[in-house]
Amino acid sequence: MYFPDPYPDELLGSVFIRASHHLGLTPRALHSALSNRSDGELSFVYPCAIAEVARLLSMSRREVLLQHTVFPYVCIGLDSTRRSDLEEQLSESSAPSGSLRLRSTFPGHIEALSFRRLCRKCQRYDIETWGEDYWHRIHALPGVLVCPIHGSPLHSSRVPLLAHISPKYNVLPHEVPCDQGGESINEAQLRTLASEVEAALRPEASFWDYCLQSCQHAALSCGYEYRAHAKTGTRLAVDFEGYVGRSLLGQLGLSLVARSSGGWPVEVLRGRRPAMQLQLRFILLRMFLLESGAHRWPAN
Ligand SMILES: [Zn+2]
Repeated sequence: MYFPDPYPDELLGSVFIRASHHLGLTPRALHSALSNRSDGELSFVYPCAIAEVARLLSMSRREVLLQHTVFPYVCIGLDSTRRSDLEEQLSESSAPSGSLRLRSTFPGHIEALSFRRLCRKCQRYDIETWGEDYWHRIHALPGVLVCPIHGSPLHSSRVPLLAHISPKYNVLPHEVPCDQGGESINEAQLRTLASEVEAALRPEASFWDYCLQSCQHAALSCGYEYRAHAKTGTRLAVDFEGYVGRSLLGQLGLSLVARSSGGWPVEVLRGRRPAMQLQLRFILLRMFLLESGAHRWPAN
């Protein structure tokens, strides 16, 4: 069966869309052809049909997961055993896997993160280089509101990121109208954040296995005694909010509700795992603590 080679950093959902365009199949017919099952749908953002795709592309399942799915991002904060369990689960499943871990990674209710996003400069480059455009994985990840390559604000389509690839959503970037990405007051901050998310995808960034311990160590080195005293917890929360910015935290759905006790940054450092967006919380905390200095982080 024909199946297109994925482009650099192309999300698997985007490869499904191109395959369906090239083959003239509906998404459902493509799913049946891939999985030999008459029911089921293809997901845009969740890894699915990994075994089938790996076979068609002569890649290992692990390569497909690491290079063309959100798996490396979802793994942030997981130790190696839990990472292997998730890898196995995602490799075996032919249906879109909406496991709790995946669902808590992608907040469906936060406007800035709910739709497929694209960079016009990447799109132009892709059309010139490959003759067609595609959806980039990095642009789909929470926290990425500007392109880490070009630094320009991403455009937001009205296609829900979490929706299955239905005929209505079986579209490439040039086939959808997009809102111009808004100018932001903290563009430098957004660029740093996008680069941090990108760095977290690199397979060698295994220190994310230990990111809780690293963040705890860094916090203590910076003088934030988060464990017991409410006062230093509050100071950490105030400094953190000042660094990231209240409006950006709000945009990302990560506002600090309770600053007095330190709010979620302190809870995360104390080992609690908030229900939503643990990965982005770790990335923001790491950014803040890096900036606060005093601690030397392992290189990416
Ligand atoms: Zn770009």
